Amino acid sequence: MSTIVGIDITHHQLPLDPPFPASWDPQPRTKFPVTIVRVRDSEGREGIGSGDAMHGFADYARYFLGEDPLDMAQHAARLMNVDFHAGRPWSLDLALWDLVGKIEQRPVWQLLGGTSPRLRLYASTAVHRSIPEMVQTAHRLLDQGFDAMKVRFGRPTLGDDLAVLEAVRDSVGDRLTLMVDCNQGWRMPWDGRRPWDVVTAWGVAERLIGEDVFWMEEPLHRGDYAGMTELRSRVRAAGSMRIAGGEMTREPYEFRELLDRECLDVFQPDCTCTQGISGLAPIGRRIDAAGKVFSPHTWGNGIGVMANLHLAAGTVGQAGSLWMEWPEDPPEWSIERRDYPLTAPLRADGGWFELSDRPGLGIELDEAVLARTVSTVATFD
Ligand SMILES: [Mg+2]
Repeated sequence: MSTIVGIDITHHQLPLDPPFPASWDPQPRTKFPVTIVRVRDSEGREGIGSGDAMHGFADYARYFLGEDPLDMAQHAARLMNVDFHAGRPWSLDLALWDLVGKIEQRPVWQLLGGTSPRLRLYASTAVHRSIPEMVQTAHRLLDQGFDAMKVRFGRPTLGDDLAVLEAVRDSVGDRLTLMVDCNQGWRMPWDGRRPWDVVTAWGVAERLIGEDVFWMEEPLHRGDYAGMTELRSRVRAAGSMRIAGGEMTREPYEFRELLDRECLDVFQPDCTCTQGISGLAPIGRRIDAAGKVFSPHTWGNGIGVMANLHLAAGTVGQAGSLWMEWPEDPPEWSIERRDYPLTAPLRADGGWFELSDRPGLGIELDEAVLARTVSTVATFD
């Protein structure tokens, strides 16, 4: 048996010029922060994870050091307690799964019980571009082989958002499945805007149904269960559009509420910020068993993208995830920027991603880039 002998946490910032104007953030981002977690065992192996900044974790590292890396049940239970007492520590769960895979010489998706490494992707855009640019983006994605695209709302007026959606739909017809992210579930710390209420959300939903939108994402605050139940029931009575959400929902009991109260059709928790791979694997299977879709949020760096792809492939597979989120919106959000900690950016293949048989998460860090971008803070500016 090997033991855990070290947990190292480093912060990095990639300067962004031009800045990245993420539609859900009122402040254009001039830096892309990445926190890397490495967990080392006594045999010299290293597991890699990434996600939140791990603020407040240092006091708890001793509850993992000296332990067997393969004892994932104990690690997951302790991480859940750390999540309650400090910040979100889930990068360490990802790093531990990467290490377990390296010990067992198997990829994480296989360790979780997956049978196929292939997942269909939807292109997740981020920037509020002009109508001609959004239409151009849609055609570029079609040319690349994507069959689904997510559009962001949140322009100065709802009319602006709807004009973009209508123009894209008119131009591509039914060749692209369209999703709309309303981004009402949570806010950046500096953003004081109130989320929509159910009346506003329903007014938007009616228009989206008219454009044959496949899912309406985060139309309400993440805790507005009554609103989601009502909205979903109205939407289902009016058409076939689905309601998606839960990308930053944190606790298992909250997912139980969302399921029991019929709030959502598509559940999007991200293992970098919610329960890790350990906690989301059973939650994903429960969502799938209830006849719902489990399609994790993946907006972050390539390590998080990979971890969520392994999670979906290992638990519900292609059928249960329908599409996985592929965050890419060049030039401001290129895969080179997204995946800068890695030796090579992850590549989609005609709207699909195929996980490899490499042990663990199958990723390799670019140590030279990490040395160049090292920082004392993990902020967006
Ligand atoms: Mg979203």
